[in-house]
Amino acid sequence: MVTIRDVRVIVTSPSCPLVVVKLETSEPGLFGLGCATFSWRYVAIQAAVESYLKPFLVGRDVARIEEHFQSMMVNGYWRNGPILNNAISGVDMALWDIKGKMAGMPLYDLLGGKCREAAQIYQGVGGADDKQLADNVSTLIERGIHYFRLGGHEVGRKQQPPDGALPGVPFHPRQSTRGTFKALEHLRDQFGDDIELIHDVHERLTPAQAVEFAKDVEQFRLFFLEDLLAPEDIEWFANVRAVCATPLAMGELFCNPREWTPLIAGRLIDFMRMHVSQMGGVTPARKAAILGECHGVQTAWHGPGDVSPVGHAAQLHLDLVSPNFGIQEFHGISDQIREIFPGTPEERKGYLYPNDKPGIGIDIDEAAAAKYPPKPEVPGWFELRLPDGSIQRP
Ligand code: MG
Repeated sequence: MVTIRDVRVIVTSPSCPLVVVKLETSEPGLFGLGCATFSWRYVAIQAAVESYLKPFLVGRDVARIEEHFQSMMVNGYWRNGPILNNAISGVDMALWDIKGKMAGMPLYDLLGGKCREAAQIYQGVGGADDKQLADNVSTLIERGIHYFRLGGHEVGRKQQPPDGALPGVPFHPRQSTRGTFKALEHLRDQFGDDIELIHDVHERLTPAQAVEFAKDVEQFRLFFLEDLLAPEDIEWFANVRAVCATPLAMGELFCNPREWTPLIAGRLIDFMRMHVSQMGGVTPARKAAILGECHGVQTAWHGPGDVSPVGHAAQLHLDLVSPNFGIQEFHGISDQIREIFPGTPEERKGYLYPNDKPGIGIDIDEAAAAKYPPKPEVPGWFELRLPDGSIQRP
């Protein structure tokens, strides 16, 4: 029996803190890596893994992934929170990595084998004005990108906050929806139906504004509208469905199966886009993907910069084996990160390709990782403020 010998957390911050669990086994040289990246609370993840999960896991059989997932989830009694889920994900992915290495198979083979060669990606695009936005889209088209996600594009006269208002990043919901409407209109005028358009609302509207906005942008035939509602307001999806056919994507903030299960089973969204480490790893993500397959809901896993290459690769394996894969968010990976993580997936002509090494296929150069020590910080964009100076979801 191969057992768990050590569980360590490695944090490296070439751009933002990336958190990876390294799980070593009783077999010399056999180890696994898992993504536990919750960049903005990485100290807590490190403590959860090394102070609580490690003593619980050392000496146990590496083969029993489901057993370990279930027991880690209830071992602290309270569960389904972002700290613990990310910590569990680090261990869960590392165990899948080890299982693949022991079998001599890439994770995609272990999960049933590829049903596509690569995952089509979408990228974020912006611009100070319509012309720059269209120019940036043209540049990406030349690189082979076909799917584009717009963020906010505010238009209109800036309103002064009240005297004494606290500092922050100003955000005006109505100016943002009007600006986005104009940007979408411009891109459809310029590029016709040859490109796919996505917009991320980032849960910044009230539910009523969200219903109105989804209806207004229906004419632009979006690929999907992302995070139209906050997790606290998901019952409103039924109202959106009742008034328009705009495809809906949701999930990056979810950490409890009770959040995604009703939306998938009720066919209230079209794309699930959970953050795989926030769910708890490959084990729960695979189950959610299959639930989606049974209900006609596609996958579009969350793929921002604050996912480690181990996390990107793990979700890419899921993309390749899931018949209901929809699209993969991916914004490129820097040379520094590639140096730290040999084996990082390659982007070519709008597709993301894995390597064919056993397991998840990513290694870590710990000396290179140590060149970028993290420092605790809270990013400024978290302090978004409405015109009256009150706090808004970032
Ligand atoms: Mg998003």
